[in-house]
Amino acid sequence: MNVQYSKLQVQGLEINLIRKEVRGIRLSIRPDGEIRLSIPFVITDSVARAFVVSRLPWLCQHLEKINKQKALEPDDFSTVPYLGSSYQTLIFYHRIAPRVVIDSSERMCIFLKPGTPETALPKVLDAWYRTELKKIIPPLIKEWESIIGVKVESFQFKRMKTRWGTCNVIDHRIWFNVELAKKTFPCIEYIVVHEMCHLLERGHGTKFKACMDKFLPDWRNFKKELNGIPVRS
Ligand SMILES: [Zn+2]
Repeated sequence: MNVQYSKLQVQGLEINLIRKEVRGIRLSIRPDGEIRLSIPFVITDSVARAFVVSRLPWLCQHLEKINKQKALEPDDFSTVPYLGSSYQTLIFYHRIAPRVVIDSSERMCIFLKPGTPETALPKVLDAWYRTELKKIIPPLIKEWESIIGVKVESFQFKRMKTRWGTCNVIDHRIWFNVELAKKTFPCIEYIVVHEMCHLLERGHGTKFKACMDKFLPDWRNFKKELNGIPVRS
């Protein structure tokens, strides 16, 4: 098949133009953010450009989503976020592994079993984040149970794309997003209090806000800090 590749710049975006024997125009975005426009040979650059311009709102919306997702799942592990700080990582191959230790120079030492590929890092870090949250969250729940006057029956961790936490108000069970381990302690506490306030008030209405104001007057600041990335509580 005869295929001709070229590039097109449209309002700061680089479009990979692919001319081939097709009938229609097809605009697509690859998961890595690459924008492709497949067009028939007869379509000129200026027509192609006009087509892209007409699709700019759609393009920007999708690119934004991809970029936010990328920020959540970094593929470079030279630095790793933890409790609001960014740690430089050092990888060691060791028989007693996997382990993650923050050393006295504030470096994150990641121990992997010999022969483990570095592609295993996200899994190792995910397990470590869960372990750390299991140390941080139970004392918070205990303290806030006596302040708010509610009882949390159980809590678990999972990866969520759109929420920092969810609360089953019937079973008094809370799920926390593993990503919270990357956030500052006050932000983690804010989500704990937020989810626990749902045990008093289901929705996010006036009553709920009054509840948050009463127990954690600064909650709006923490919410703002958390909303730097696209996950809601
Ligand atoms: Zn909520």
